[in-house]
Amino acid sequence: MTQDDMNNDIERVLYSQEDIAQAAKRVGQQLAQDYAGRTPVIISVLKGAVLWTVDVMRYMQYAEVEFIDVSSYHGGVASSGMVDLVVDLQTDIKDRDVIIMEDIVDTGRSLQFMKDLLVKRGAASIKVASLLDKKDGRVVDAKVDYIGFDVPKAFVVGYGLDYKQLYRNLPYVGILKQEVYDPEHV
Ligand code: 5GP
Repeated sequence: MTQDDMNNDIERVLYSQEDIAQAAKRVGQQLAQDYAGRTPVIISVLKGAVLWTVDVMRYMQYAEVEFIDVSSYHGGVASSGMVDLVVDLQTDIKDRDVIIMEDIVDTGRSLQFMKDLLVKRGAASIKVASLLDKKDGRVVDAKVDYIGFDVPKAFVVGYGLDYKQLYRNLPYVGILKQEVYDPEHV
């Protein structure tokens, strides 16, 4: 799929490359200030949060980075309600300050699952930094501490976010045309 093909599948651009760069700087500088003198463990949620993680991390002084993969979507556009741990952390986070880096928090189920896991493993503190917060999608109580953008309830792709593993490399975040995932909708 070419860049042009991908651009054609976008209904509307919500956040440009420049908007996102500014948000990463704002959140990164805030984290640098809030964690001054500490070395938090950033837990980047695969695969969608990878771009956001590296862009935010550039503004932090000390931070370790780890990866986790939890899946609640299974390739579709609606949450299945079940969350699985697909890739576990490679480090012990007992007594550590952790920052979960998410691409988007929708129903909140993935976040709740990860928070429960980290609490069970004895994290000293847990904060959440998400590129996008889709508050209208919330089904369980899940708070985002550092927000890039409040996003409306639509299915978005780009800058890490995919539909069937595509569109992650778009430099912006946009709403995917409904006809792409729902062929009956024209
Ligand atoms: P939650 O468990 O909060 O419902 O969902 C979180 C995960 O669902 C995100 O990490 C992301 O993978 C996926 N997700 C939720 N909304 C969207 C969306 O609008 N676009 C894409 N590409 N993924 C989404």
